[in-house]
Amino acid sequence: MDTPPPLVIFDFDNTLVDSRIDFAAIRGALVDLLESSGPLAEPRGELMRVPIADLVARIGDSAPHLTAQAWATIEAFEAAGLRDATPVPHVYGVLAGLTARGFRLALLTNNARTATERVLAELGLAALIPVTVTRDEVPALKPDPAGIRLVMERAGPHRAACLVGDSWVDGQAAARASIRFVGFGPRRAEVEARGVMPWAWVKDLRELLDLDWNA
Ligand SMILES: [Mg+2]
Repeated sequence: MDTPPPLVIFDFDNTLVDSRIDFAAIRGALVDLLESSGPLAEPRGELMRVPIADLVARIGDSAPHLTAQAWATIEAFEAAGLRDATPVPHVYGVLAGLTARGFRLALLTNNARTATERVLAELGLAALIPVTVTRDEVPALKPDPAGIRLVMERAGPHRAACLVGDSWVDGQAAARASIRFVGFGPRRAEVEARGVMPWAWVKDLRELLDLDWNA
């Protein structure tokens, strides 16, 4: 029997596409919303470091009537940030190159499905990634490992899995799912400051083709 292929799961924003989603502004708006329902239980500076999904959960706990407004706020920032998204340099060649080598490819994003699919289609990336999992399908967002587990189920048999992403939430999700994390981009120090230890770190997607995936 043939050995099943490795599975490489990509993050979306600032890994496959350069989007302009202002995640700090989203956190700020959610903290404002939380504060509109009563005094903050934690200092604002602490809350600004909390994953967006956890801020929504805190709003749900203290002011459930504001949950819909929280998601609407997030979607508005996402739509604005994705409007002019561009492909990360070399993404087409790298995805095609990994596929040609027999890798199975997937996408896991905390973004909504509709916006993700629109950008994938507009940029001609949809055909290069067979499995896409968005926040519409996952029981809990990254850094929770649930999305990785769902991707692994949907991707079929594979030998080993790895998550490629630019943010600490990607690295922490990978660690919690007990899979490798390959960091990408300029934020290595910030990611490692969160206690995330990448298996490898690349600054150019083409370096993925040179990694020793069997190591
Ligand atoms: Mg990202």
